[in-house]
Amino acid sequence: MIPMKEKVLLGIYEEYEKWATKDVACKKGCATCCTQNVLITAVEGDLIHRFVREQGKTKRFAGRLQKKAATKRPKMTTNGFATSCFEGEDVEPESYGSSEPCPFLEDDCCTIYESRPFSCRCFASTRTCGPGVPAEIAESHLSASTAVMQVIEHLGQGEYFGNMLDVLLALCDLPENREYVKLLPASVSDQGRAQIVKSLPLPGFLLLEEEMEKVEPLLQAIFEHKVDGKRIEDILNNK
Ligand code: SF4
Ligand code: SF4
Repeated sequence: MIPMKEKVLLGIYEEYEKWATKDVACKKGCATCCTQNVLITAVEGDLIHRFVREQGKTKRFAGRLQKKAATKRPKMTTNGFATSCFEGEDVEPESYGSSEPCPFLEDDCCTIYESRPFSCRCFASTRTCGPGVPAEIAESHLSASTAVMQVIEHLGQGEYFGNMLDVLLALCDLPENREYVKLLPASVSDQGRAQIVKSLPLPGFLLLEEEMEKVEPLLQAIFEHKVDGKRIEDILNNK
């Protein structure tokens, strides 16, 4: 049975994908953007682990998890950054530059595509990007991505938030992932956990009024989306 939080996450992905522009250059086999520079929450990690278990690919996945390169880790979550901004603190967005390819790539295609996290779903360029050619992303798309990431973080408040590989490693010692005990060194979950922070509740959206107007229809569609007969907004508010 799929846990409620993962069902809510799938509902958010479904509404985002209906809303997102299809006018992008991204296509299968184009993967310069697939680096180890991806941030996720625990519920996104749970969905990836579930997908890998259901596909019977745990052994192969364990090998990929160990290909984690040195990369910067976030000190602050998206909602943590928003809270600091609302409190008038002088904070700069962090950057997590890493050009190491994502270990889930195979022949320039994503091996966990159906369960890929939101950061991967929302990164879409209107021109083919690559070395020396940065992605071109519409402002409304960036605003929507930030707002949806804030909702996803709210869904997972109190749980892990960090680099995708760190979060996936940290989740390896959950009972449902016990197969990894035989496949990975004993300390990897602790090493993953040492690098991550905790998701925070939504303090308000990090958007200007005009940006909010453009993103409002998407947020409404997400909040009205029903999971097991309940609106996502009510689930997020514990009603
Ligand atoms: S963001 Fe750039 S590299 Fe990534 S799939 Fe789209 S066009 Fe290709
Ligand atoms: S998880 Fe998939 S889509 Fe995301 S960076 Fe890795 S290979 Fe690319």
